[in-house]
Amino acid sequence: MSALDGRGPHVDPEHYYDEATDKAAADAHLATCKSCRERLEEVHVRLRDMPCSELVELVTEYLDEAVDARLRARIDDHLRLCEGCRSYLDEMRATLETLGRIPRDTHLPDHVRAALLAVFRESRGGITG
Ligand SMILES: [Zn+2]
Ligand SMILES: [Zn+2]
Repeated sequence: MSALDGRGPHVDPEHYYDEATDKAAADAHLATCKSCRERLEEVHVRLRDMPCSELVELVTEYLDEAVDARLRARIDDHLRLCEGCRSYLDEMRATLETLGRIPRDTHLPDHVRAALLAVFRESRGGITG
């Protein structure tokens, strides 16, 4: 009769790590629902394929569109799954736009850009998962 085979509504594993997700309710459901556990495990595999730490290193290249299509797809996939990295990307984009008041064809030397980004990261108190 019911499409639900566990307790409570099915979990959407792609949104499991969203802040809006009620983790306690999700976990209670996961304990009773094998199919959701399997889908969450797939999400974990995808997150391991592109961990947060790797994404953080790639974010400037990503915003500069300096990553190839394959890498971009992996980053996009991670961003879909990871709210923390989505908000990090948004902040980073805003920061780069602020830095980018510099005319577009003036390319910042890498060490200058790195120094500015380091300041930005420190001001944020570091990246946590
Ligand atoms: Zn389920
Ligand atoms: Zn992440």
